[in-house]
Amino acid sequence: MAPAGNCTAPYNEAVNAQLNDAHLADPANPTLLEAANEAGMPGLAVNLNADLHCHSTVSDGTLSPATLAARAAGNGVELWALTDHDEVGGLAEARDAASSHGMAWLAGTEVSVSFAGETVHIVGLGFDIDHPDLIAGLAHTRSGRERRARDMAQDLEDKVGIKGTFEGALKYVGNPDLISRTHFARYLVEVGACNDTNEVFRRFLTTGKPGFVPHRWAGLGETVKWIRAAGGMAVIAHPGRYKFGPNAEYALFSEFKQHGGAGVEVVTGSHTQADYVKYAAMAIEFGLCASRGSDFHSPGESRIDLGRLSDLPRGLTPVWQALSSRIVAA
Ligand code: AMP
Ligand code: MN
Ligand code: MN
Ligand code: MN
Repeated sequence: MAPAGNCTAPYNEAVNAQLNDAHLADPANPTLLEAANEAGMPGLAVNLNADLHCHSTVSDGTLSPATLAARAAGNGVELWALTDHDEVGGLAEARDAASSHGMAWLAGTEVSVSFAGETVHIVGLGFDIDHPDLIAGLAHTRSGRERRARDMAQDLEDKVGIKGTFEGALKYVGNPDLISRTHFARYLVEVGACNDTNEVFRRFLTTGKPGFVPHRWAGLGETVKWIRAAGGMAVIAHPGRYKFGPNAEYALFSEFKQHGGAGVEVVTGSHTQADYVKYAAMAIEFGLCASRGSDFHSPGESRIDLGRLSDLPRGLTPVWQALSSRIVAA
């Protein structure tokens, strides 16, 4: 299947503005997505309420795919993607639930990648959920997680004196293939080692801290390749979170682009306003489409709820324009 997406075509600002004005002036007007489709637009409205990044119990979220779909729809999301870490196991439930709420949907996942000695996350959108290359690549990516978790538990016992964290973390795991640092964080809060999960990451689970175990994930090029082979678009997740200097960041964007990556998250729950401006400029510089997603994990933990995000800055091509043929309509 041909990879989706052409991010060099600018969106049609005049048509988008008309659609938005009509919808805001008269709520009985069709949603932006319906109006855009009815108008036969090559793309979709730029300030659609799209939320293309969140997590369910199939990875490290605390809500099921169907509960997330209901919450997204209730918050006014018009186009939604569930992006569990290294997994597509929740997508059939997510697609059906989106349809029952009249919400347009895209397939999604968030793949863990090693680049320049750091972990980088690549979101895949709009792919064929049964594609064998992607299924095999994700299975391989998940396969090292249990060993890593056992090593983390051993380190927490030897260096910090907290026993039983592997079994403790497992109590929070919804998918035995997908034990993550977040599950350890929830258990360490439960036993009173820290007040909240952010403190656990700061004190124990990030680079150089006593429960941090370096891990080798898939490579950037191979990950982009699986996503494209499955007909999807690869998107750099929350670039503002990585600890790269300007040279390594430039290398990430240029290598990603050379491998056929086509998008970058500009508006995400973990970006500041300054990050929106910086990564909007990077999207234009590298000819990448712009994405928008909350990275919602849990009502008690996540700062930004589903769909409660700023619009994309003007002048960018949203990923949903390039992916319009891959959207499952409401
Ligand atoms: P893992 O894939 O096991 O390395 O876990 C990564 C996940 O940990 C991320 O997707 C976040 O959900 C969570 N995480 C990473 N850093 C932090 C942090 N500083 N505070 C809270 N959660 C974090
Ligand atoms: Mn996560
Ligand atoms: Mn991430
Ligand atoms: Mn995420």
